[in-house]
Amino acid sequence: MKSIEDIKQAIRDVPDFPHKGILFKDITPVLQNAALFGATVHHLCESVRDLRADAIAGIEARGFIFAAAVADRLNCGFVPIRKPGKLPAKVHQESYTLEYGTDSVEMHQDAVAPGSAVVLMDDLLATGGTALASTRLIEKTGVRLIAVRFLIELDFLKGRDKLSAYAMQSLIHF
Ligand code: AMP
Repeated sequence: MKSIEDIKQAIRDVPDFPHKGILFKDITPVLQNAALFGATVHHLCESVRDLRADAIAGIEARGFIFAAAVADRLNCGFVPIRKPGKLPAKVHQESYTLEYGTDSVEMHQDAVAPGSAVVLMDDLLATGGTALASTRLIEKTGVRLIAVRFLIELDFLKGRDKLSAYAMQSLIHF
């Protein structure tokens, strides 16, 4: 089994993407290697296995890759948290502030039965705006948000401070 350090080594830095000054953490080298992708899903599963979640909620788009795989392995449901206008049925919406302007995330109102235990998962925690809006969104649906998990956390952006109300953990830190 590949280690978390092996996975960290495979993450590629792409400077100035999608904007000048952003050092983009590219996970595609991890995904294209079966041993690394499998190990990533394994380590994420182990970080939530004991919580006995009913569903894993993943944030569009890269969060889907890991959240869906973890949900399948742990035999629980997968819930998509999406950009506005993508989900077809009735949604809850939560807006958040970006560097320039605002953005929103949406989730189907009936995605999870009330009282269920849900884990939120994304590929990367940067400033925490997306994840914090997603936690609020999940709580609007009346379910219990029991944990938040990231593959990667950019420690210097302090997104963790926004999520201090939750049991939050990341596998890899830069
Ligand atoms: P934030 O709301 O600032 O925490 O941004 C988190 C979202 O943006 C995640 O869904 C990430 O996929 C993406 N993201 C932000 N910064 C980076 C980065 N440096 N490298 C890769 N993805 C990033």
